[in-house]
Amino acid sequence: MLPISFEFYPPKTDEQREQFDRSVRKLKAYAPEFMSVTFGAGGSTLGQTPETVQRLRQQHALDGVPHLTCVGGSREEILALLARYRALGCTRIVALRGDLPSGMARSGDLRHASELVQLIREEHGEHFHIEVAAYPEVHPQAPDAQVDLRHFKAKVEAGASGAITQYFYNADAYFRFVEDAKRAGVDIPIVPGIMPIANYAQLRRFSEACGAEIPRWIDRRMRAFGDDGAAIREFAADVVAALCRRLLDGGAPGLHFYTLNLARPVQAVLQRLE
Ligand code: FAD
Repeated sequence: MLPISFEFYPPKTDEQREQFDRSVRKLKAYAPEFMSVTFGAGGSTLGQTPETVQRLRQQHALDGVPHLTCVGGSREEILALLARYRALGCTRIVALRGDLPSGMARSGDLRHASELVQLIREEHGEHFHIEVAAYPEVHPQAPDAQVDLRHFKAKVEAGASGAITQYFYNADAYFRFVEDAKRAGVDIPIVPGIMPIANYAQLRRFSEACGAEIPRWIDRRMRAFGDDGAAIREFAADVVAALCRRLLDGGAPGLHFYTLNLARPVQAVLQRLE
């Protein structure tokens, strides 16, 4: 069975919780290795992320995995969250720096994700399987790919067990990154992050902020569909499924889906892979 995982954001309202539960039930059918829950850097989901992880573990009997960001948080706050996750039975965690919301001045005790990985290893030894982020198209704040790769390697040397990439639509960028990482001595699995296309206007905004490139040919086609929702959904699922197929054929060790709490666009891709 193909190792897959799904990422959700923590629902905040009753309506969002209902949608979350519906999506989780549908995606559970694909027997995911885990379902992860994002964390609002700066503490905006301090209560909701642990609650959602608990909901996945206790109500849905799934391996709910928390994301933990270090920017804006104190050492004590981070240690308290880790203890809470351990008490919930978590053995895997996604460790990130995060981006502070604009206008928030609080910088926190740790500056880089590598310091968070180091702290988790110091305090919890080998208890957690630690996933970190990787950027096949280069992190937007990095001066160049080499420097970014060095920083990625620092997270692995600090104790990361695996990596999940930022989403991308260019398989060559992933293969090149994996190759470069191997040559630099990095031997942890690097799982591609897959973003199904549900809302194209929103995706374009996201992509500008996080440095993911939407190839021109995809952009031109998407725009040409205008308001034809059915054609957009069909084309988007075909494109993303072809990307997944190429990644798996090229040796990707699994797939991690950014669901945005919606099951249907993910199902459309997975159905094409069956
Ligand atoms: P880092 O690895 O610390 O790198 C960030 C930047 O700093 C890079 O440019 C790197 O080159 C540079 N850098 C690293 N170390 C050093 C150093 N020693 N000296 C100088 N520069 C350095 N964000 C959230 O807020 N919540 C989430 O739940 C969340 N989940 C994510 C899940 C995945 C799989 C991915 C890929 C991203 C996620 N993000 C999340 C976004 C992430 O927080 C941002 O991309 C953030 O800008 C960088 O986080 P990082 O962990 O990659 O940071």
